[in-house]
Amino acid sequence: MTIFEKMLNKEIPANILFEDENVLAIHDIDPQAPEHILLIPKETAAGLNDIENWSDEQAGRYLKTVVKTAKLLGVDKSGYRLVINSGRHGGQTVPYLHMHILAGRRMNWPPG
Ligand code: AMP
Repeated sequence: MTIFEKMLNKEIPANILFEDENVLAIHDIDPQAPEHILLIPKETAAGLNDIENWSDEQAGRYLKTVVKTAKLLGVDKSGYRLVINSGRHGGQTVPYLHMHILAGRRMNWPPG
């Protein structure tokens, strides 16, 4: 079981921003911006490819939690970066789906 699944199951502690019926939103342990939140879905998926097995409603609800989080952080107007690292070339290190929300500074492009 991955570290994120253990957090969802409350087997290990997490620095939680909020939790709702769709996600557990936690502070990244190694923040890459003043705000760095991980949105961990309650619907199981090892990575983004797995959301093919989700309903469109589940997928849509998961995406909408980004907006909820941005508003909660107060960065919906100033902006933020949404990242999903997918697979080896995408730089995914934890094999359970999560979105990164990075905010609080101007982001660079292109990403590394
Ligand atoms: P990724 O490389 O996209 O799979 O992202 C994994 C993220 O999980 C990284 O940004 C890590 O810093 C973060 N991370 C790893 N362990 C923990 C933890 N115990 N609590 C919070 N974030 C973590």
